[in-house]
Amino acid sequence: MSTEMTLSADSEPKRIGVLGGTFDPIHIGHLIIADEVRHQLALDRVVFVPARVSPLKQDDGTRFVQEQRFEMVRRAIEGNPAFAVSRVDLDREPPSYTVDTLRLLRQKLGDQHSYWFIMGADSLALLSHWRNPKGLLQMARLAVVSRPEHELDLGSLEERIPGLGSATDMIPGLQIGISSSEIRDRINQGLPVRYQVPKAVWECLSAYALAPQE
Ligand code: ATP
Ligand code: MG
Repeated sequence: MSTEMTLSADSEPKRIGVLGGTFDPIHIGHLIIADEVRHQLALDRVVFVPARVSPLKQDDGTRFVQEQRFEMVRRAIEGNPAFAVSRVDLDREPPSYTVDTLRLLRQKLGDQHSYWFIMGADSLALLSHWRNPKGLLQMARLAVVSRPEHELDLGSLEERIPGLGSATDMIPGLQIGISSSEIRDRINQGLPVRYQVPKAVWECLSAYALAPQE
């Protein structure tokens, strides 16, 4: 498996995407957007960064525990040399603010590389509520992917975070109506989710005995 550690600090400048998320569970939408951003921005590597989630939040219906979420990401990206997974947020004390995640990744991988933080339109809409958004933009450019039912209003976001527009690369052409929360709902209702996740993740879900067997 490739991990972020395979990029050594003294390597040639590379173009690196970072996709943070809870991945509860990872689905094909995550893989499709990572691959499309990689293609459109000519990235060398996309690093998936599973977030640490407060155990207090894991109380309603189907939720996967940290090591299950990590394992599903690992299995989902296996075999793609352009994809890697990082434990940087899992292995440190919460809260895991993205600005710190990016700082730590830059320390690990090297400042000579160019970084993009990849996010869906729903996440971008909340960016002004994140810890230190201006600092985040100093660590990475943003690669923003559209998402069904989530309007993008860069103009009003720019008012709240000056400099956002010029630090953002829009990734046109994708509208993928898949979400982890819908997958969890469907699992709870006994509805099929098999083809919303990669085969290896489906095998994990089956093994965790939280998905309907088919
Ligand atoms: P949940 O419903 O639990 O929030 P999710 O499907 O949004 O899950 P996350 O792990 O929250 O998955 O997402 C990680 C990142 O991937 C976020 O920036 C999110 O906007 C983006 N993302 C996830 N699914 C899509 C999608 N179908 N289209 C565009 N972006 C997506
Ligand atoms: Mg989400």
